[in-house]
Amino acid sequence: MSPLAAAALGVVLGLLAGAAVMVALLRRSAVPVAPAVEPHELDAVIGVLRSAAAIVGRHDELLAANPAAERTGLVRGTRIGLPAVLDAVRACRRDDQDGVLNVDVPGRLGRPGAQLAIRTVALGDERVFVVADDRGQALRAAESARDFMMNATHELKTPIGAISLLAEAVEGAADDPDAVAHFAGKISSEAGRLAALVRQILALSIIQGRPALASALPTDVDARVRDAIERCQTLADGREVSLTVSGQSGLTVFADPEQLGTAIVNLIQNAIQYSEVKARVVVTTKAVTDEGVDWVDIAVSDNGIGLSPDDAARVFERFFRADYARSRATGGTGLGLSIVQEIAEGHGGTISVWSKPGAGSTFTLRLPATKPGEEGQA
Ligand code: ADP
Repeated sequence: MSPLAAAALGVVLGLLAGAAVMVALLRRSAVPVAPAVEPHELDAVIGVLRSAAAIVGRHDELLAANPAAERTGLVRGTRIGLPAVLDAVRACRRDDQDGVLNVDVPGRLGRPGAQLAIRTVALGDERVFVVADDRGQALRAAESARDFMMNATHELKTPIGAISLLAEAVEGAADDPDAVAHFAGKISSEAGRLAALVRQILALSIIQGRPALASALPTDVDARVRDAIERCQTLADGREVSLTVSGQSGLTVFADPEQLGTAIVNLIQNAIQYSEVKARVVVTTKAVTDEGVDWVDIAVSDNGIGLSPDDAARVFERFFRADYARSRATGGTGLGLSIVQEIAEGHGGTISVWSKPGAGSTFTLRLPATKPGEEGQA
């Protein structure tokens, strides 16, 4: 090839390669480049964040902040409100590097304390984005899980310890058939207690792990109450307790039918067990409107032993028993009412108690009424 032809070929190849690069670049920039974010748009974006968030300018001035930032104390007036965070903002700006830190904000009059997990992000132009999440709620949940674990272990240890002592007693009484029968009976009742505890702990963890509203549907209250009464009838007969229903019929709630059944059964069983023989237990259903919201109240009343105001305030705590001996004698676990509370809250409802020692108790489960147009029924 002549030098001229080689040069011409080189130019053509060069032009082709250049064209190919241009096409590739054009393809890549087929998506139009967005214009820079305007300050009012930043305000709008930060405004919808649930976390506390703020953008700090090059002179530490606030360019934007949301209400959560004010509420948590992250910002105060036109400045960052926490000295440790301001230091972190300055370091982020100086080193052009994102950072993380945890800061505890003490509570002040009218404002609860917070445990903030904070991130600083360098935005360029010496601006720093600060975002803070309150870890307090997560820490409290972890603490409550730890407490529950400790209490559950303690509760489980009691029957396990009793069973092992009774087993030793059986060994020691091998020559005495009556004593063996006596200890064997006790082993069986402790094993029953253990089984009930494990069942309730499992029930509680299943209810906690499954959002009730995911399986909620318009549910016929009369049918659930009838079914619950049927399930408690043998227990009631054993204590000659009368079970009756009163109030409005034909009501529907938006609920998981199985969980609703469990809650009503737990309340009726307690009403039977914490009453004297021949007591009266009544289940009353009623539609109520509170602050414009429609609810259905399912109240279980007894004329039993009742509760002191101090005990009534604690009955929904896990493993709480007002009368330990009676709860033990009836095979109670101290978890029945916590399960009812978990179910009520999982549905966006409530459980409350009225009680008077010697006069009786009324436990009221309040659940959201079905809205017009909600189809299907269980
Ligand atoms: P338990 O398995 O011990 O019955 P619960 O969580 O169902 O556990 O109830 C907690 C405690 O509340 C009971 O041990 C009892 O002291 C008290 N309680 C519950 N229901 C009633 C009631 N209807 N009348 C009086 N006391 C009750």
